[in-house]
Amino acid sequence: MKRKLLVGAGLLLAVAVVGGVIGLTARSIPETSKYAIDIERWRALAVSLPGPRPTDVRVLEIATNTVGQWLAIEDGGFGDVFDMRGYAFQVRWADGTSLIIDPINDADSQQEVFPHATWDALAWQEMQEAMLAAQTIIATHEHFDHVNGLTNSPHFDALVGKTIFTRAQLDAQLSMGLSGIDDRIRAGAKALDYSGAHALRPGVVLVEAPSHTPGSQLIYLRLADDTELLMVGDVAWNRANIDRPATRPRMVEWAMGEQGENTAHWLRALHDLARAHPEVKQIVAHDRATVEPLVKAGVIAEGFVVEGG
Ligand SMILES: [Zn+2]
Repeated sequence: MKRKLLVGAGLLLAVAVVGGVIGLTARSIPETSKYAIDIERWRALAVSLPGPRPTDVRVLEIATNTVGQWLAIEDGGFGDVFDMRGYAFQVRWADGTSLIIDPINDADSQQEVFPHATWDALAWQEMQEAMLAAQTIIATHEHFDHVNGLTNSPHFDALVGKTIFTRAQLDAQLSMGLSGIDDRIRAGAKALDYSGAHALRPGVVLVEAPSHTPGSQLIYLRLADDTELLMVGDVAWNRANIDRPATRPRMVEWAMGEQGENTAHWLRALHDLARAHPEVKQIVAHDRATVEPLVKAGVIAEGFVVEGG
C-alpha cells in the first residue's frame, strides 16, 4: 500500500515536473506565416470610404503594472520585469469626431487581478469624458483590461450604443472571468460581422486575428498625412515577441485558453511586416517601448482631447 502511494506520488511529481518544464517552453514560430500581410490591401481599404482620414492619434496611460518577463516571452529571464502599461487611444478627425480604442478597465477590476498595479483616477475620468464625446468605441480584443472602462463605466447607458464589438468578441466564451463582455453589452452594443479586413471609417481598417482571444483584431490606421500605425493589441505583450520573434510560454497560453498556433503565425507575420515595412509603426497594447518613442517623435500625442471641453 505504502509502495503504491509512493509510486503514485512519484508519478504525480513527474507529471508536475514535466508539465512545468513543458509549460515554460513556447511553441516555435513558423518560418512562413499563414497570415501573409498584404499591406497594399489595407492601404486601399483605408482610403475606400469617402471623407478625410484622421488627423491625429493620442494615447492615455491609465495603469502601470509589473509582471515577470518570463510570463510574457519564452526565455524571458526570471529576474527580468515586464513593465506593463494600460493604454487607451483616441483617434481624431478634423471635423471634431473621434474614436476610442481600448477603454481601459476600472480601479476595482485592476485591483482584483493586479493588486500591485497603479491606476490613475484622473486619467480614467479623462477617458470617460472622451468616450462620452466620441462617436465610436472599439477594442483590440474582449479581455477585461481593454473593455471594462465601458463595462463598469458610470456612463454605461450613454456609451454602450456607440460601441462596436465584433461578433467574435461578443460571442467569445473565456475562462477565469477574463472577458469584459457581459449581457448588457451583448444587448446594447453594435455587433459587427466581417472576415478578413474591414474599413470601419476613413483611415481605420480592422483586421480579424483570432489568436490571443477569439475576438482579437488588429487595427490599422492611415492618417491624413499618410502616417501608418498598426495596433496589434495583445497578440504580443512585448515588442520582443515580434522582434525575436517568440511567443508566450505554453503555461500562459493554457491558462488564457489562447489559440497559440494562430498567435505564433501572427507574430511571424508582424515580424516580417516590421522588416519589410518599418514605416508601419506597430503599437503593442501594453508595451511602453512601442508607445514612448512615437510620443517623443511627435507621431502620437499624450492625453485625450475632449471637444468643447
Ligand atoms: Zn491586455
